[in-house]
Amino acid sequence: MKRNLFFSTLVLLTLLVSGIALGQQYNQHEAFAPVFYPMYGDKVRAADGTPGPEYWQNRADYAIDASLNDQDHTVKGVVTITYTNNSPQALPFVWLQLDQNIYKTESRGNAATAVSGGRWANRDAFNGGYTISSVKILEKGKEADVAYSIDDTRMQVKLAQKLKAQGGVIRLKIAFEFKIPKYGTDRLGQLDTKNGIIYEVAQWYPRMCVYDNLNGWNTLPYLGQGEFYLEYGDITYSIDAPVNHIVVGSGELLNPKDVLTAEQQKRWADATQSEKTVILRSAAEVTSANSRPAGKARLTWKFKCTNTRDVAWASSKSFVWDAARINLPGGKKSLAMSVYPVEAATDSAWNRSTEYVKHSIEFYSNYLYPYTYPTAVNVAGIVGGMEYPGIVFCSARAKKASLWGVTSHEFGHNWFPMIVGSNERKFPWMDEGFNTYINTLADERFNNGEYASNIAPTQALTHYLFHDSTESIYNIPDVTQQRNLGAVAYRKPGLGLTLLRNEIIGAQRFDSAMRYYTHAWAFKHPSPYDFFHCIENYTGETLDWFWRGWFMNQWTIDQAVVGVSYINNDPKQGSVITIRNNGQLPMPVTVEITQDNNKKETVKLPVEVWQHGTTWKFRHNSTGTVTAVNIDPRQKLPDVNRSNNQWNAAK
Ligand SMILES: [Zn+2]
Repeated sequence: MKRNLFFSTLVLLTLLVSGIALGQQYNQHEAFAPVFYPMYGDKVRAADGTPGPEYWQNRADYAIDASLNDQDHTVKGVVTITYTNNSPQALPFVWLQLDQNIYKTESRGNAATAVSGGRWANRDAFNGGYTISSVKILEKGKEADVAYSIDDTRMQVKLAQKLKAQGGVIRLKIAFEFKIPKYGTDRLGQLDTKNGIIYEVAQWYPRMCVYDNLNGWNTLPYLGQGEFYLEYGDITYSIDAPVNHIVVGSGELLNPKDVLTAEQQKRWADATQSEKTVILRSAAEVTSANSRPAGKARLTWKFKCTNTRDVAWASSKSFVWDAARINLPGGKKSLAMSVYPVEAATDSAWNRSTEYVKHSIEFYSNYLYPYTYPTAVNVAGIVGGMEYPGIVFCSARAKKASLWGVTSHEFGHNWFPMIVGSNERKFPWMDEGFNTYINTLADERFNNGEYASNIAPTQALTHYLFHDSTESIYNIPDVTQQRNLGAVAYRKPGLGLTLLRNEIIGAQRFDSAMRYYTHAWAFKHPSPYDFFHCIENYTGETLDWFWRGWFMNQWTIDQAVVGVSYINNDPKQGSVITIRNNGQLPMPVTVEITQDNNKKETVKLPVEVWQHGTTWKFRHNSTGTVTAVNIDPRQKLPDVNRSNNQWNAAK
């Protein structure tokens, strides 16, 4: 889901309406308290932060046949779900997610939306949601009735016989239909363009809830702000659409010969060999009948996405389409693609989208884990920015730095949460925050820093993150106030990882630890404590003070310089410098010391100096009179009070 690109406006707003949270009391016993973890490791989730020897998760494979009606804007389909219970317990019932039901007028999400509306509000009194015409269980090739009940965005299926533990399988067949909202809570919808509607379709088929060893069934309703927690499996799906539509979706297109012209197949083959963007269907060809196969009214596009938590797709008559090769570690390849209306086909906008897709995926693949899907599609549409496996929806109006930013962000999600499948509905910082962090690294590098100005300086973020009505990172998104979500779910956890990397652990060790975490939990379900444990065990650092202060609480950083004295009152014998920790969160210290002989030295102190209390004195081997002491001189920490960071000798 999209980062807030309007952060500077928000900073101003928050400064106007509230002050910064000052006056916290530092307490070393609280900061460094011996017990942080609420539970010990076990055979499912080991204490070293990796999946234990008896780790299990359930599996959901889907086969879906659907059709798009572009007259009444509906999707109608049948899904067959093969659900495998790998848990140690037999299950008397299973839960599914019916996220389309948020668009019913009487939905919980609708009821819990403020009158003022907002990004996740249902608009124009749209009354949608699922029509579920049948729910069957398949047994020995035969369909049988099964008891089920629907409550808002959840469906419970009660099984006549318990689903066996450790490998029991059921197959459910569900027929569904829904009308595509014009504005689907900024996650799906329709965009009117000159050459036809762009349909962006997601949360479109009934999906299994996750059953895990932390909560059992994860059944939080879909209210809008909270995203998704999904099982892994293989998904094959077909979309039957009018012949003049181009359909793009998650995963591999299985039948290009059926749905592309001979010329388009040739251009596609060229694109798989090309570092530069190759046009598959040009702006001039969009309105030409020759750009679609002749002789049929409708075509069925078949896709397969393996080892995935979801699939999404888009369909339109209006698409310009282009592609270029993605180079992955180990010599593997994938294909970057973009589809967009002619209105967006300019060199300052979507003509560069595929370049952005290619470079962001190549960077994240090298940094963390090789991208796993055969294609990566960027779709221009009504959605501001939303991620799905192998396909993302970005605003058709995005340009230049904003298009790079949103593309890099949405594809960054392919690592968090698509590869590392955390629980987004409860812990948005594990995907939005981690993603914001890797986006910063990609911003620095893309095209020699062409869009490095997208990176917010730490000091500029301080007031945004620590004004007196912000909340802790550790809240479910539906409870986080909408205006704080950008800080709480994105910027603060993102900056938290940057601080771990640059100020606490060191770039090389931290990069390696993030790679280790990603590999350990690839296609699995880590909890927050699994992440904390994993980083601590791999780096060998105890970081409970940081998790506590930065993630669980709103502890602020306020380091200060108090003064300088000399050994035996003689600067040549050395100086003693006194510093203070006024904020509640201790951090390692960087001090720059300037002497009257123009010598300037930088001293680094570990966080442990604050284990003794609020004030710390350290000896510095000065050779002259100290004229200035500056703490955090390069402003790397979000220090809420910089007026006490500098000490100057009296002249
Ligand atoms: Zn996001």
